[in-house]
Amino acid sequence: MGAHDDVRTAPRALATEAVHAGRDDLARQGLHAPPIDLSTTYPSYDSRGEAARIDAFAATGADPDGPPVYGRLGNPTVARFETALARLEGTEAAVAFASGMAALSAVLLVRASMGLRHVVAVRPLYGCSDHLLTAGLLGSEVTWTDPAGIAESLRPDTGLVIVESPANPTLAEVDLRAVAHACGSVPLLVDNTFATPVLQRPAEQGARLVLHSATKYLGGHGDVLAGVVACDEELAGRLRQVRFATGGVLHPLAGYLLLRGLSTLPVRVRAASANAAELAHRLAADPRVARVHYPRIGGAMVSFEIHGDPHEVIAGVRLITPAVSLGSVDTLIQHPASISHRIVDADDRRGAGVSDRLLRMSVGLEDIEDLWSDLDQALSFRGAGNCATSHDEPAATV
Ligand SMILES: *Cc1c(COP(=O)(O)O)cnc(C)c1O
Repeated sequence: MGAHDDVRTAPRALATEAVHAGRDDLARQGLHAPPIDLSTTYPSYDSRGEAARIDAFAATGADPDGPPVYGRLGNPTVARFETALARLEGTEAAVAFASGMAALSAVLLVRASMGLRHVVAVRPLYGCSDHLLTAGLLGSEVTWTDPAGIAESLRPDTGLVIVESPANPTLAEVDLRAVAHACGSVPLLVDNTFATPVLQRPAEQGARLVLHSATKYLGGHGDVLAGVVACDEELAGRLRQVRFATGGVLHPLAGYLLLRGLSTLPVRVRAASANAAELAHRLAADPRVARVHYPRIGGAMVSFEIHGDPHEVIAGVRLITPAVSLGSVDTLIQHPASISHRIVDADDRRGAGVSDRLLRMSVGLEDIEDLWSDLDQALSFRGAGNCATSHDEPAATV
């Protein structure tokens, strides 16, 4: 970490950490905005010293002391984001990756390299996480269960338990404390992408690994692809070693944008959540809507099942953007059965509560009345409105 060792003083509130963590050294350096270090390599006239730093990294995976060595081993700008995210999640460390999937892959590889290939997971998960586990692409073997079945699904070779809460796309919540207890000594990984540390800090409830698709709320502006795992220093060391060996590193410019994104995370999440709660309320009272899913802990995601054809709603929005992904400043909507969870087997998907009539909306920072009027007109599309039998209508109405 070198030049920006964190000055650990009195505990600071989340809003304060969001704008200061990872930047504590800047004023001493006469800087205000963090510098972007794009170096891929670093000169060193002391090759004995550099050899010792490489040995130390190979032994523990600890961030090398002293000057950086090579971009795949660590980058000072990315390290600022890692420091800040660890502070927000309340963990010792965080390790950033090129995407959320690269982050999950690294966790699976760390456990498999210790001979612990079995994973216990609770559906629903993000579609590609489900696919990575189900297809066994990294040699893991998965047992799907519900939260109550976790303890009895554990085996001697179980390396990981994975849950998402609120889950993508149904927003189903699990009791993290109870799940962590059921895991015993097996590390629990919580995908905290939807809640963010503003609404929930899983490490405080017993999770050993907290994963984010930083592409979503942490970046927050739809222009960075990234992933990060917040955890203790021991696991972080192994994750850095896997990152070094497999190469899924985060670009320094992305690290800069993520650090910048974190500074507004608390205000973005609170403002978007207020919009989402109001939309959930209006949708629940609307006769065109069969069911609304909105988490108890709140948040900026709303999912809802409609009586009509969800494809008509997607085709009908004008202000809201029909697109996958989530967590940006603007509102996005998509149809999980067609898009984000397409890769999951249809029976498994429906079994996890992902109905074919479910729409998932990531609510942004627009004015609430503008959002509602767009949703209202999209729901009024012929075929989408007030008619539970739109699929059965005679061809003559087409
Ligand atoms: C998007 C997403 C991921 C995957 O992240 P990428 O950055 O797209 O690789 C993982 N988990 C959840 C909950 C997500 O929404």
